[in-house]
Amino acid sequence: MSQKFDVVVIGAGPGGYVAAIRAAQLGLKTACIEKYQGKEGKTALGGTCLNVGCIPSKALLDSSYKFHEAHESFKVHGISTGEVAMDVPTMVARKDQIVKNLTGGVAGLMKANGVTIFEGHGKLLSGKQVEVTGLDGNTQVLGAENVILASGSKPVDIPPAPVDQNIIVDSTGALEFQSVPAKLGVIGAGVIGLELGSVWARLGAEVTVLEAMDKFLPAADEQISKEAFKVLSKQGLKILLGARVTGSQVNGDQVTVNFTNAEGEQQQTFDKLIVAVGRRPVTTDLLAADAGVDMDERGFIFVDDYCATSVPGVYAIGDVVRGAMLAHKASEEGVMVAERIAGHKSQMNYDLVPSVIYTHPEIAWVGKTEQALKGEGVEINVGTFPFAASGRAMAANDTAGLVKVIADAKTDRVLGVHVMGPAAAELVQQGAIGMEFGTSAEDLGMMVFSHPTMSEALHEAALAVNGHAIHIANRKKR
Ligand code: FAD
Ligand code: AMP
Repeated sequence: MSQKFDVVVIGAGPGGYVAAIRAAQLGLKTACIEKYQGKEGKTALGGTCLNVGCIPSKALLDSSYKFHEAHESFKVHGISTGEVAMDVPTMVARKDQIVKNLTGGVAGLMKANGVTIFEGHGKLLSGKQVEVTGLDGNTQVLGAENVILASGSKPVDIPPAPVDQNIIVDSTGALEFQSVPAKLGVIGAGVIGLELGSVWARLGAEVTVLEAMDKFLPAADEQISKEAFKVLSKQGLKILLGARVTGSQVNGDQVTVNFTNAEGEQQQTFDKLIVAVGRRPVTTDLLAADAGVDMDERGFIFVDDYCATSVPGVYAIGDVVRGAMLAHKASEEGVMVAERIAGHKSQMNYDLVPSVIYTHPEIAWVGKTEQALKGEGVEINVGTFPFAASGRAMAANDTAGLVKVIADAKTDRVLGVHVMGPAAAELVQQGAIGMEFGTSAEDLGMMVFSHPTMSEALHEAALAVNGHAIHIANRKKR
């Protein structure tokens, strides 16, 4: 007789493992199925985020930034170090250890909460039954009152640059280089391309980013994306916009890439090429033909605002459904679904999912951009404050960028917070907290901010919305 659960989750990424833990906390008998085998050949929980995404990329970003600081900016502080060298295998091994600790930590949390883990491939059959094919090839069928599909995403491949994980790599391969490539090509100036390009540029690679679109970071506020383009270019990232890759040839240890831009056909040769042109949902062998779950036209599982699929009792969350491919969006959907299964009326505010690009300076935002609001005909007031005028940023020798607060001109309600600069991700989160509670720019301006902090730039930008900034000349005086 098959085992029966209240909730069966397929996939243990930040969507699936969080959903499973929350469901178990709520007293539901919960199972989670995961097939991923980590570097040591054992099942590793945590999905893309912990194994080959958010965490390993941030580990390399932090290591490479420390190297960059030691190399480039210690001398400003009067520190001399002698020759600074980077041992890349040690940097990569440190990253691997962090991944191991965290994925092991998730396994511990699942156990502590009483979630039953099945190692293998999960497939939804009709009638809310789930088939598990174990690592030994044996199958068993689990019965479920509710099923949560959390199978995530994987990198998009493009025919002009087939990944071999040696010379042409995807984001996973780019976390594993054992030495710094002298010349690195990156296809795609999205979040992943910019972060991974930055890691290797800081360590001395000559990095060229080929981006098909003419616009840089079109989802960001235009003022911020223009500033970011300038700052990242100054750091040495050569970002070619309007450059569409059309082909590539690997010759020995190098790859020659063909692309077209406004000047016509171009060619460049690199030692490594990272393909970072986006991610697509993973649904391979996830659904039996008669499972009844609808997909949308782009191959995502179709869900409503509460992540319910077309089959009652079957939900889908995270990268496999519409919306931003972000770990925090996946996790919050996991919590919402687990709570709704338990009978709560939980919901999620999709308007306030923050976006972050962990370059240095970081680029982060929440809410709407100036161009989007103007497009909608909303009258707005805008306040900005440059980090060049922040005492804390000067003390830290980290003055590039700005904070921008956008408020409704009639109500003063904050509609967007956009930051490029030190601690941008943390500052934007402060904006998100305020916005969740319907803050006005005046409310933010009336709050007491510690001095000296980077956060004061948010305070000043909020004050500037109504012409009351103290530490910068106001454009509007009121
Ligand atoms: P995933 O994390 O992809 O997990 C899905 C899991 O399901 C996988 O472990 C997979 O093995 C398993 N699975 C799939 N099918 C089956 C099946 N049939 N049976 C059993 N198991 C199955 N997001 C951020 O928010 N911040 C960041 O800084 C950030 N940085 C990133 C950096 C990189 C390089 C990459 C690649 C991604 C980054 N992301 C970041 C995105 C983030 O990793 C994803 O949005 C997040 O992991 C999605 O979570 P998920 O649970 O939906 O799917
Ligand atoms: P993201 O989806 O945010 O990770 O960004 C991926 C980027 O890759 C997008 O900005 C695409 O325009 C870009 N891209 C996709 N295909 C190509 C290509 N053939 N050549 C250059 N850039 C591409």
